[in-house]
Amino acid sequence: MNTIGHFINGEMVYDAERKQAVYNPATGQAEKEVALASVATVEEAIAKAEAAYPAWRNTPPIKRARVMFKFKELLEQNAEKICQLIGEEHGKISHDAAGELQRGIENVEYACGIPELLKGEHSKNVGPNIDSWSEFQPLGVVAGITPFNFPVMVPLWMFPMAIACGNCFVLKPSERDPSSTMFIAELLKQAGLPDGVMNVVNGDKVAVDTLLNDERIKAVSFVGSTPIAEYIYQTANANGKRCQALGGAKNHAIVMPDADMDNAVNQLLGAAFGSSGERCMALSVAVAVGDQAADALVAKMSEAMKGLKVGAYTDSSNDFGPVITGAHRDKVVGYISHAESQGANIVVDGRTPNVDGYPDGFFVGGTLIDQVTPEMTSYKEEIFGPVLQVVRVNTMQEAMDLIDAHEYGNGTCIFTRDGEAARYFSDHIQVGMVGINVPLPVPVAYHSFGGWKRSLFGDLHAYGPDAVRFYTKRKTITQRWPSAGIREGAQFSMPTMK
Ligand code: NAD
Repeated sequence: MNTIGHFINGEMVYDAERKQAVYNPATGQAEKEVALASVATVEEAIAKAEAAYPAWRNTPPIKRARVMFKFKELLEQNAEKICQLIGEEHGKISHDAAGELQRGIENVEYACGIPELLKGEHSKNVGPNIDSWSEFQPLGVVAGITPFNFPVMVPLWMFPMAIACGNCFVLKPSERDPSSTMFIAELLKQAGLPDGVMNVVNGDKVAVDTLLNDERIKAVSFVGSTPIAEYIYQTANANGKRCQALGGAKNHAIVMPDADMDNAVNQLLGAAFGSSGERCMALSVAVAVGDQAADALVAKMSEAMKGLKVGAYTDSSNDFGPVITGAHRDKVVGYISHAESQGANIVVDGRTPNVDGYPDGFFVGGTLIDQVTPEMTSYKEEIFGPVLQVVRVNTMQEAMDLIDAHEYGNGTCIFTRDGEAARYFSDHIQVGMVGINVPLPVPVAYHSFGGWKRSLFGDLHAYGPDAVRFYTKRKTITQRWPSAGIREGAQFSMPTMK
C-alpha cells in the first residue's frame, strides 16, 4: 500500500512507526496510508527550517517573488493531477476541486506582489536631521495546521505569504487527505525554493503539540474546528507565540419577503450542498422572514433538490461527492435524526442515498429540514454536511437577533431587493464576512478572511493584507548621523519637537 511520508529539507522522508489509513470516501476503502510524524521527525523539520532561515531572510523580496511566480505556473500546469488527488482523498467533484485550486492560486498571485507589500513606512526630519522608518521583518520559522476540507486552498492561504515575507515554514496538513498538499509542496522545490524553507510533516496531535511547544516556532496559523482552534490558540499564546486560529461556523442566510425567490433558491442550493456542505462558509441555515416567504422557499427548494446529483468525484456531472469518513457520515445522519426527534420536519431526506456503483461510499444526500428552532442540537452545532435547515421568524430584526445569538460568526448573507435593509444588515450584524445577495462571501485574495465570535481566535485574519502583518514584525528605526554637525548634551527630559 502506498505510504505518504513527510517532505523535509526538499526530500521525502518516511518515519513509519505509526501510520493511519487514508480512505477514498467514494469507495469507502482505505487505499493509502499516511505516516504519523514522531516528535523527532517534527523537530528535524523545524531544525531544517531554522537552518534555511538566515539565507532566505536575506534573499531579496523580488527573488522570493520570482519563486512564487514560477510556483503559480506550476500549479496551473499540474491542475489536473492536483484535482485528482483532492478527489481521491477528499471526494469533491473535479469542478469543485478546480475552484478550490483557483482560489488558492489567487493567494500565490497576491504573494507575488511582496516587494510592494513589504515597503514599510518612512518619515524624514522627525527631528533636526533625524529620520525614522518602520520596516517589516520576518518572524523566523512559522507553522501552519490545516483541515481536511480544503487540502490545497487553506495551505495556500498560509505558506505562500509566510515564505514570501522571508519566513521558513512547517506545515501539518490534515491526516485524512494529505496527498494533494504534499504534491504542491514538492512543486515549490521545482519552482526554485531552497531546501528547508518549506517542510511538511504529516501526523496527528503528537505533531501538532510538538509544533506548539517548540520555542523555535514563532507563529502558528490554524484552520479547523472550534474546540481545536481554541486549544491551539491558548497553548500557542501560553508558549509566547503569535497565533491565529480559525474555527467552525454556522452560516445563516436571511430570506426577506421581497427577495427574488428563484435566485435565492438557486444560490442557496450551491451554497448549502456544494462540497457536501463541508465548507466553513457553507450556508446551512435559511432564516425566512414571514410564513409566506418560508412556504415559497421550502416549496421551491424541495423542487430544485430533485435535480441534485450526489456521486463520485470521477463524474463531473455530479453536484457533490461523499463526506470525508464513515464516522462523519454517521454524525451528519445523527443530526438529521435528532432534528426529527426534536420536532423538525424533514422535507427532503438524504439519510439513505442510493449511489450506483458505490455501495460502500460515505454518501449523504441533500437534506432539507423545515420548522427548525434555536434549541435544537442540529441548529446549535455545526453539521458540516449537505443539510439545509429552515428557521421561520416574523421580522428581519428577529432574524438578526438569532444570528447574533449564535456562538459562531463566520459568514452570513441576506437575500433582498431592499437596499436600506441590506445596508442596515451589513452594518450591524455580528459576523465577519457578509454577503448581499451573494451566498458565499469568501473574500478575494487581496482582502482578508476571518469570522467573528468563536469562529476566529486571534486578532489578524487569514491571507490578504492581514497575512503580511501576521507573518512579519514591525521594527521602527530612528536615525541621526553626528556628521551632520549637530552635537547635543545629554537630555534628561523626554525628547519632543516642541
Ligand atoms: P479538525 O479541527 O478536526 O482538524 C484540523 C487540524 O487539527 C488537523 O490538521 C488535525 O490533525 C488537527 N487536530 C485535530 N485534533 C487535534 C487535537 N486534539 N490536537 C491537536 N491537533 C488536532 O478539523 P477538520 O475536521 O479537519 O476540518 C473541519 C473543520 O474546520 C470545520 O469545523 C470547519 O468549519 C473548519 N474550517 C474552518 C475554516 C475557517 O476559515 N474558519 C476553514 C475551513 C475549515
